[in-house]
Amino acid sequence: MSEKFVRQKLEPPEHAKKVLLHSCCAPCCGELMEAMLASGIDFTVFFYNPNIYPRQEYDIRKNENRRYAEKLNVPFVDADYDALNWLARVKGLESAGERSARCSICFDMRFERTALYAHEHDFKVITSSLGMSRWKDRDQVNSCGTRAASRYENMVFWTYNWRKYGGSARMVEIAKREGFYQQKYCGCVYSLRNANVRENYGHYT
Ligand code: SF4
Repeated sequence: MSEKFVRQKLEPPEHAKKVLLHSCCAPCCGELMEAMLASGIDFTVFFYNPNIYPRQEYDIRKNENRRYAEKLNVPFVDADYDALNWLARVKGLESAGERSARCSICFDMRFERTALYAHEHDFKVITSSLGMSRWKDRDQVNSCGTRAASRYENMVFWTYNWRKYGGSARMVEIAKREGFYQQKYCGCVYSLRNANVRENYGHYT
């Protein structure tokens, strides 16, 4: 007989009263949202992903995430789609693969904007769903997040491993239950190119 799942009670760093959650997409973010709600954490979802190409894909991912935030009654911030600046920042690294230096620049840009918003709106703790996917290097995500948070006094990037204690399995369950759109590539035009040449790829998350 399977035991009833009991969630861990999460405590943000520094006993922070509220958290700014950078979200990359609904499938990765769903488990983080449910985990924070279950722990009574006051959080806001911040959607800033100028890496996503094309615009139609960006709108699908954003609207899916917004819909779920509205369902859970969680504040959702829709930040800019400054795709041209993103392309300028990764210039010269078009041929790099995933987990490469291009991805560090991509994370840096998204987290710098997240940290700026946090600074302007009195959040002391930021975190992200970016480390949730098995395709991502958690250390790479955490070091970029920590670097962005360090730009502001007393700001912390919460490096909690959202995959553990069954988090990865629940991510999949929530995505199925909610019927989330399942992207087949990380997001940028270069990852789309790589996905197109990869045979038999499945869902990305
Ligand atoms: S592969 Fe993903 S993380 Fe890397 S640069 Fe492209 S969108 Fe960003």
